[in-house]
Amino acid sequence: MTDSSHFISTRGQAPRANFAQVLLAGLAPDGGLYVPVAWPQFSQAQIADFAGKRYQEVAFEVLRRFVGDAFSEADLKADIEAAYAGFELPAIAPLSEIGDGQYLLELFHGPTFAFKDIALQILGRLFARALKARGGRATIVAATSGDTGSAAIAALGGLPNIEVFVLHPKGRVSDVQRRQMTTSPHANVHNIALEGSFDDAQALVKGLFAETDFAREISLTAVNSINFVRIAAQAVYYFTATAALGRPATFVVPTGNFGDIFAGEAAGRMGLAIERLVIATNENDIMARALNTGVYAAGAEHHTLSPSMDIQVASNFERALFEASGRDSDWTAAAMNDFSKTRRLVLPANVLEDLRSRYSAFACSDDETLAAIRRVHAATGRIIDPHTAVAASAAAHFGARPSVILSTAHPAKFPDAVTRAIAQAPPVPPALAALEKMPEKLSDLANKLPLLRQFISSRLTA
Ligand SMILES: *Cc1c(COP(=O)(O)O)cnc(C)c1O
Repeated sequence: MTDSSHFISTRGQAPRANFAQVLLAGLAPDGGLYVPVAWPQFSQAQIADFAGKRYQEVAFEVLRRFVGDAFSEADLKADIEAAYAGFELPAIAPLSEIGDGQYLLELFHGPTFAFKDIALQILGRLFARALKARGGRATIVAATSGDTGSAAIAALGGLPNIEVFVLHPKGRVSDVQRRQMTTSPHANVHNIALEGSFDDAQALVKGLFAETDFAREISLTAVNSINFVRIAAQAVYYFTATAALGRPATFVVPTGNFGDIFAGEAAGRMGLAIERLVIATNENDIMARALNTGVYAAGAEHHTLSPSMDIQVASNFERALFEASGRDSDWTAAAMNDFSKTRRLVLPANVLEDLRSRYSAFACSDDETLAAIRRVHAATGRIIDPHTAVAASAAAHFGARPSVILSTAHPAKFPDAVTRAIAQAPPVPPALAALEKMPEKLSDLANKLPLLRQFISSRLTA
């Protein structure tokens, strides 16, 4: 019997948890990431049947396998409907052909114009529901390279008994991205501009979780892509895209923290036929090097035109390593421990072989990113954002057909890069244009854990 509605840690030392517990906890108590005890299975007939269904119905079919009895079917359905009611297009994640067997899977039609809305709009609603059932409050602390922060704020701003702290690397997110976070009118939203990189911000958040007494006292939780609920919600569009195409595709995914592409692996493990998963990175190429050289090693930090992928460590890779090792939690725990000390992990031959059976990888430079924006614009008249362009560059490199390029952000979030590429600014949706006139609220903070702890404490008691 498969048990897809209970979860274990990749490091093997955490008690089993149900969906609501995983949702509220984010990270497992042993420092690992939650994965289902067994992946739910969909038959080819069930998957083909998704072609005629609304996005929301497919989301319900996929999510309910993980939810089990943690929420009623009626509640889950209501939250899915509400989550996607605010999307611009009824298709939610439409697929559009850009010629020659290549497609864009448009994931940016939510309230903050990046794909993170697709998971966070559901997660926020389920989170509020689970919190109400459990009682008490929750403190969410998230590090963002730009898009997670605004999507989390859009999903959680104004909810009762939840405080949201978002750390972004100061000066490293685009103006639009910063304004989307700092103009939130909600009193439970606290923006921090951290003096440091995204990885510094992520390390601080991890440090906060490691202070277990403080973490317990404030009911600390994470909604970044280590939260399994995000993976589950993102797996949905791999199903809908494949059903719409009517045949297996190569998915090309602009990759930072490895959450979005791991959702593709998850869909595959649930029975979806996928040709290949292509990891597309910018010059922060830890994942491309890991796949291509067999050594997962943090590299030098690059500040690129695709800032949401400016990441040295890909947290969700731990889930792929766990699976590729045959679910060996002892090995995964030891490997992640070694990596946290040395910032380097040589992948064993069996693990690397398993990863390569599923994934290919390609890293592209800023010049190639600009060239891809120009090429797609010249060929189709469409303006793509620099993250989508990184994937378009990788898709051109591999040349697989059909290729589905995950289009993760609206170009208006990154007008500078677009203008550099095609000497014309992308049209700005009214909701984004309005941000320019709104007052911003944020606090600068030095990269020091005690300062962060103190900042949070003072806001919680205020
Ligand atoms: C977050 C983000 C990515 C990277 O997704 P991961 O799940 O972190 O790999 C790519 N593009 C955009 C626009 C993003 O916001």
